[in-house]
Amino acid sequence: MIYETKVNDLAEEFGVHRNTIRNWINSGILPAQEGPGRRYLIQWEDYRRLCDKYGREPRFNPDPAAPEESPVTPRSQAATTPAPVRLDVKTRNLDISPGLADICLTCGSCAGACPISGVDELDPRKIVRMAFLGLEDELVTSSWPWKCTLCGKCEAVCPMNIEIVQLLRRIRAQSDRDNVPAAIRKGVVTCLEKGNNLGIPKDDFLALAREMGEELARTSCPGFVTPIDARGARLLVTINSKQPFVEPEAMTWWWKIFYAAGESWTISSEFWEGINWGLHAGDYGAMRTMVKRIIDNIERLNCTALLLPECGHAYYATRYALERWFPESLQQFKVYSVFDLLLEYLDQNRIRLDPASQTKLTTFHDSCNYGRHSLKSFGHGYFKEARILTRACCPHYVDLIPDQEENYCCGAGGGAWADHFEAERVFHGRVKARQISASGAKLVVTSCFNCRDQILYSLNREFNLHVEVQFLWELVANALIMPPAETTEARHV
Ligand code: SF4
Ligand code: SF4
Repeated sequence: MIYETKVNDLAEEFGVHRNTIRNWINSGILPAQEGPGRRYLIQWEDYRRLCDKYGREPRFNPDPAAPEESPVTPRSQAATTPAPVRLDVKTRNLDISPGLADICLTCGSCAGACPISGVDELDPRKIVRMAFLGLEDELVTSSWPWKCTLCGKCEAVCPMNIEIVQLLRRIRAQSDRDNVPAAIRKGVVTCLEKGNNLGIPKDDFLALAREMGEELARTSCPGFVTPIDARGARLLVTINSKQPFVEPEAMTWWWKIFYAAGESWTISSEFWEGINWGLHAGDYGAMRTMVKRIIDNIERLNCTALLLPECGHAYYATRYALERWFPESLQQFKVYSVFDLLLEYLDQNRIRLDPASQTKLTTFHDSCNYGRHSLKSFGHGYFKEARILTRACCPHYVDLIPDQEENYCCGAGGGAWADHFEAERVFHGRVKARQISASGAKLVVTSCFNCRDQILYSLNREFNLHVEVQFLWELVANALIMPPAETTEARHV
């Protein structure tokens, strides 16, 4: 049986952009032949498989004479009755309270809010129920916890405040390491063995950091020298290994801000990595080790403050680890998120910004980790700060609807940007793409590498968004009104 349809009709049916349908066809996710009149011919089984994957009921029945399949198998027809599940909490690894069954209303609000619910039968309500019923093996061997971006949208709408993200993190942690997506597993192992996720040799990194500093001194910051292992500097700064690997100029946005603010700062020559994929992998031992290395660097270099790593997950992982395993260190040095530090510079007039450096209509995309998760775990989400800083550079500003605590994930969180579930990542991102498109914004500002990459490189292409995307610190660096050369030279030479 052949299903004949148009790309636009399929896009509407699955709630995605027509580019996504074309990508499914071109990549073989949806085998289809071109037919007459810009139509596609699809085998019924392939169409049915796609419907199953994305949790859609097929729009038509290939055999109108055949009765509709009943979604419920009558008891009398059930081939076998599953064995009863023993509710013995002591033998459970997921550490689920038996009271969960009474607390969860099975209302489905979580499933309704989840942008990926229904895909490959993933459903947060089902996950909660399975956890309670003790179906741990089924959960830890499934791909659901890895297709889920841990965005917490489900948790935010749960009327009973059930910690669904915490449950999903526990499922990741209990998973056999072979079940962890290969890219994430490799990143963790490489970081533990070589000091950074991408295995960049120390000499290469140092040479590049010095070279980028010399370039900055030539172009905009006279006298600038990259401060590596500067003992006694106030602020320790980590580096996201993606920067030296693929876009080294991105490191210099912060360096330019530090230069203008007259900051005393340094990078460590060892263990400078800011990324922490221990969080994504559910490997808390690795996460702790990576954060301990940062603490050791602060002590070795005698710094008194730490700029928490920039990327949303890395900020969250580092802050979480400091509070959980190294609470005494929070008495020894000050921690800044990127928002805290930029706002401090602005409030203390250490930097001046051109209020109209961007004339495009601009919006801000809230990272789940800086927003919802930070609010829940640390008592403060960085919503207001993001808008103050963005508006300080952009006179034409519009919010996404919904945003802040109710914001939708870009689709690339929880390691999804790195793992191999690309079709699911794009599908998840369709909601974010619609939000951006509806806002009319031409510039999206964000504070996370994965959000930036997903919107810039993936959603732009899939959904014809045509938007520019900048990091918050990139926006600020571009809006800087640089202080007179004599004052900065005096500070930095
Ligand atoms: S929203 Fe909360 S109470 Fe409702 S089904 Fe989901 S977990 Fe249960
Ligand atoms: S993708 Fe987000 S909303 Fe869906 S289950 Fe995961 S955390 Fe919940």
